[in-house]
Amino acid sequence: MSSLSLPVAALGTPRIGPRRELKTALESFWSGKSDQAALLETAAALRAANWARQHALGVTVIPSNDFSFYDQVLDTSVMVGAIPAAYGWAGGPVPLTTYFAMARGSQADVGDAACSHGPAHGHGVPAQEMTKWFDTNYHYMVPEFAEGQRFALSSLKPVEEAREAKALGYQTRPVLLGPVTFLKLGKGVTDPLSLLDGLLPVYAEMLQRLAAEGAEWVQIDEPCLVLDLDDAARAALRRAYAALAQAAPSLNLMVATYFGGLGENLSTAVSLPVAGLHLDLVRAPSQLAAAIDKAPRDLVLSLGVIDGRNIWRADLPALLGWLEPIVAARGADRVQIAPSCSLLHVPIDLDLEDELDADVCSWLAFAVQKMAELSTIGRALAQGHGAVADALASSAAASAARRTSPKVHDSAVAGRMAAVTAAMARRGNAFTTRAETQRRRFGLPLFPTTTIGSFPQTAEVRKARSAHAKGALTDGQYESFLKEETARTIRWQEEIGLDVLVHGEFERNDMVQYFGEQLAGFTFTRHGWVQSYGSRCVRPPVLYGDVSRPRSMTVGWWSYAQSLTGKPVKGMLTGPVTILNWSFVRDDVPRSEACRQIALAIRDEVLDLEEAGAAMIQIDEAALREGLPLRRSDWKAYLDWAVESFRLCASGVRDETQIHTHMCYSEFNQIIDAIAAMDADVISIETSRSKMELLDAFTTYRYPNEIGPGVYDIHSPRVPEVEEITALLRLARQRLSDRQIWINPDCGLKTRGWAEVRPALVNMVAAARDLRRVA
Ligand code: GLN
Ligand code: ZN
Repeated sequence: MSSLSLPVAALGTPRIGPRRELKTALESFWSGKSDQAALLETAAALRAANWARQHALGVTVIPSNDFSFYDQVLDTSVMVGAIPAAYGWAGGPVPLTTYFAMARGSQADVGDAACSHGPAHGHGVPAQEMTKWFDTNYHYMVPEFAEGQRFALSSLKPVEEAREAKALGYQTRPVLLGPVTFLKLGKGVTDPLSLLDGLLPVYAEMLQRLAAEGAEWVQIDEPCLVLDLDDAARAALRRAYAALAQAAPSLNLMVATYFGGLGENLSTAVSLPVAGLHLDLVRAPSQLAAAIDKAPRDLVLSLGVIDGRNIWRADLPALLGWLEPIVAARGADRVQIAPSCSLLHVPIDLDLEDELDADVCSWLAFAVQKMAELSTIGRALAQGHGAVADALASSAAASAARRTSPKVHDSAVAGRMAAVTAAMARRGNAFTTRAETQRRRFGLPLFPTTTIGSFPQTAEVRKARSAHAKGALTDGQYESFLKEETARTIRWQEEIGLDVLVHGEFERNDMVQYFGEQLAGFTFTRHGWVQSYGSRCVRPPVLYGDVSRPRSMTVGWWSYAQSLTGKPVKGMLTGPVTILNWSFVRDDVPRSEACRQIALAIRDEVLDLEEAGAAMIQIDEAALREGLPLRRSDWKAYLDWAVESFRLCASGVRDETQIHTHMCYSEFNQIIDAIAAMDADVISIETSRSKMELLDAFTTYRYPNEIGPGVYDIHSPRVPEVEEITALLRLARQRLSDRQIWINPDCGLKTRGWAEVRPALVNMVAAARDLRRVA
């Protein structure tokens, strides 16, 4: 090993390309505008550039097979031949069409407006289910197994990519998703781990082929090691790695864990017969001491010290102060330097940002900058600080500036935070009293009808927004356009007889960005894209400083909409927990504190809306449940501050003001206490696809407040018939009392077209009327 640097690993890198080249190539291929050869060529060019970039930045342990056309879990399903029969694969190498059918469905699939009959009508195969990758905003395709599932090596992608890199002069460390995590992420059989013995030979064969290709190390990701595991799972890990170590004795296996600490799984992890273990020391720095204590002398520890989940520049001298004695004690040949997890979850290159505030910019690091930081650490540890003096000085200066910058610290916010009292997070009276007052005020019929907030964001709406952004539409022209859309939508809601109206959210690009852009403490990047799933990328807001609300954000649009109708129009806000969970957040204050600051800012808006006359205010918390920590033991603390933040923003209003909230899911079994503690007067949730079974949590809990269980699946272009909606409502009535029930779609309608929304809502109102007649 060269003594110029300790080994520096990247673990995994963003694959979409600095200018989202992969997205463009994929979408062009899917739409038939370009052929497979063009797609393969773009992908190869992106990989080559990626390897070259890492090499130039001083990464010495360069990953391969971290690239994917869609998702690394799907790649793994394909590699091991776990391809459900519906996709019509007959064995042998898996064609790209099969791969994309699993990813996106084939022909007229779910969500494809071209098919008016819906997915169940035999025109194609739906995509595999997609769900969130641990606690990130990345989504993976859920592996689907069948009882008696067989596996066979069906893709040589890991070998091919290692070979491709080698031809370009890079010896890479191929990355595989580990067999135990892979199985645990899957569905379709009661005990996925029972499939392990059938799966291991495929992994063994892959490792042998990688060894034959010249690989020296292979990284095997087992993030399941940071979860609550039972003994069976720990035994499966031991069995798996005993088999793999035996199958490829010449290979060094680096088992990578990330997104948390190993906790009680530490002994299992350090006793696996592998060459290395990667630890997330950003989420769980304190596990290092325990790991060093327990790890066998010759186990290489990969120290994940640069945050792979956030975008802040590290304080390198401080980090070195921590690492130096450890590395000295363990031996430089028993340590690698790495990010906490794959860099997939951060944007690629800060240098592309030309409009960020210069100070904020100096505090940030994207993937490229993080790799440079890793290399600086690797060199400082091998050669001493002198070798990288400038980089260390600049890092220390940026940290110091950030710690005291007035752009970050606002004493007025600190003052407000200090003045928060418990009473501020409590409504004046309990729900039963408020409900009486509200019933008298609104005089709504039984089973009131409403929608969740947004109406279709048509091509026209998006065109107008981008024309305005480019300056082709003046502020005045854009505003007239939005007013026209809003007015038409209000009139139409009145016409079809909805009871509680919304303004339609035409002025909003995104439910978090819209607020982030108006709150102090947030900024936005131009190119800070992060892959969410497949070709879809998001550009999360950056929360860098104390949050306050310089002026009202929604009152103008709400007032305009309300001026057009005598029916109540809901004020429409995004809640503090959702704004927090969908942003890159500060790492210099606890999440709970950042959340509380946002709550105070949204509280100002709630009170302004009430003052302006809004009688109902909806505060969406779409991301509250997805923020649940990975470990069960951390749930309570999270739910406590999350619920407290919601209450703080919602509770300043009078009894007669009705607070609504909305959540895009309904699996509330395990958190129903927290949902009840939010104490929203009305909650709307997603239930249409669960046949209302998910309402059982509310029934069992005897949830007292009002509920709008979704009766229209807005994820599908299908228009529900009146009778289907009535049937769902019958099921809801078995679980809730009539006076609790509201009638609404599952979620906002922004992704749908008017052609579907019109008849669907007309049917929904008709179902409500039918129900009122019989109830
Ligand atoms: N009010 C938002 C809308 O209707 C809510 C969206 C969401 O919960 N994801 O679009
Ligand atoms: Zn929703």
